[in-house]
Amino acid sequence: MLCEGEIIFNLTKKINKKIISELKRVIQEYNKKKGEKTKNNFDNSKIIIKIKSENQTITDYALSLNKKLKEFLGRNYKIGVKSFKIKNYKVSINLDKKALKIPKIPFINKIEIKEKKAVIFYKEISEDFVKNNNVERTIKLVNEKVKKQYYEGKSEHHEIIYSSPKRNPVWNKNPTEEMIKQNWIIQGPTKGKWIYRPQATAILRAMENIVLNEILKPLGFVEIINSNIISGEKIWNKTGHLAGMPMELYYVAEPISRDPKIWEEFIDELKITKKIPYEKFKKLVKINPLQGLTYAQCPIFYWSLRGKVIKDSTLPLKVFERKTNSFRYESGGRHGIERVDEFHRIEIVYIGTKKQLIELREKLMEKYKKIFNEILEIEWRTAWVMPFYLQQAGEIKEDFKDKIYGTMDYEAWLPYRGSREKSEWLEFQNISIVGNKYVDAFNIKGQKEKLISGCSGVGLERWVAVFLAQKGLDPKKWPKGFKKYLPKIPKGFEFL
Ligand code: ATP
Ligand code: ZN
Ligand code: MG
Repeated sequence: MLCEGEIIFNLTKKINKKIISELKRVIQEYNKKKGEKTKNNFDNSKIIIKIKSENQTITDYALSLNKKLKEFLGRNYKIGVKSFKIKNYKVSINLDKKALKIPKIPFINKIEIKEKKAVIFYKEISEDFVKNNNVERTIKLVNEKVKKQYYEGKSEHHEIIYSSPKRNPVWNKNPTEEMIKQNWIIQGPTKGKWIYRPQATAILRAMENIVLNEILKPLGFVEIINSNIISGEKIWNKTGHLAGMPMELYYVAEPISRDPKIWEEFIDELKITKKIPYEKFKKLVKINPLQGLTYAQCPIFYWSLRGKVIKDSTLPLKVFERKTNSFRYESGGRHGIERVDEFHRIEIVYIGTKKQLIELREKLMEKYKKIFNEILEIEWRTAWVMPFYLQQAGEIKEDFKDKIYGTMDYEAWLPYRGSREKSEWLEFQNISIVGNKYVDAFNIKGQKEKLISGCSGVGLERWVAVFLAQKGLDPKKWPKGFKKYLPKIPKGFEFL
């Protein structure tokens, strides 16, 4: 890495010739130790240092020289260093891959890229910017964005691991459309939300009971209940969701005050016009601190364990959550009940040693297999895919090849989409082991061994969509195993 720039230290007092000559000596000694050469200027109450370095970043150099100067000037002359800034800062970065195009990077004033070298340029950066390691993170971001250029547009890594026996579907209709016709489901008042009538609710609950009885109880998972509202600062900024998918999150705004007087004008205007005065409303709610609705259930659970040392007797820790709904702004991708903005999901979370989790995943996979082959009798497969958490964090790693850490998607054929060979199958659930990402983010530790964690997300709407797409809406044609869980469809409402 090659860096150059001008560091300007602002002092609390003017410095005289004597101090300047001593400063020259101090800086020279310091440079000797650091293996650097600098051009120094002294101007009233400023020290200006021009430096070009191959050994270290100018930010590191500035930070440690800042300390040194503070010590020296404070001890001998009662002069303080108010602050420093770096001007005309140029950093050359070695890239892991050749850039395909120049990435957009905030805060910098210019970027040049040639082959596997990038040069970024700042006109001026503050001490806070330096202290917060923003330059180092900018360098990381440049590399990350260049690497990402190679993946954009390419489909994610997808390697089929298991395929179930073939099944003959009883029909090839889209169950969402058929359920709407029969009044089993009603589209909600806002995008991608559904109201489930007793018939569809019973199917959703039957799926839930299958998971409870066939997997969670026998494997000793215990139920927890989360809060619905997630903190951006305490949770999503730590898990990588905020940097990874801010465009998919649903945000929540609190009122700025619960004092009725503050809301009086809003209320009166609403009463008179019967229309929501949005301009007023905008000023009555706050977006800082950032909060939103559950995207996945596991992050807030990890947060709740922050800083804890989990006793060996509790490991592997096995929980599930089914009370909070997941919200995702799916926008254009929305369709049917299988891609919605609010869905019901059982999230199964496990924390333990590597050995424990590999074993547990095996058991989970076995149980799932039994459900899909013997109870639901659907045509499905599993695929090893690029772990979602790596994409979420914007960091793409290539080392999940050993199939220990990563995600396995469960996919099923939707006959209404076309042939099993040519149509796109639907991911209806997954199993992941995410390694130490989340336990480290929240400083969760074991007594002796290092812990890792993982989760499995059972999307109930997707289970229903898959089952009905292959088995139809007529209970007479449903497999025996499923009928045990739902012998009869409840009667719905009748309308004139
Ligand atoms: P997709 O690639 O289909 O968007 P995802 O990778 O975003 O799925 P995950 O974040 O891994 O999904 O969530 C796990 C499970 O949650 C999925 O397997 C699926 O069952 C369910 N799920 C995710 N998004 C939706 C949605 N929009 N509607 C219904 N279920 C969903
Ligand atoms: Zn999870
Ligand atoms: Mg998604």
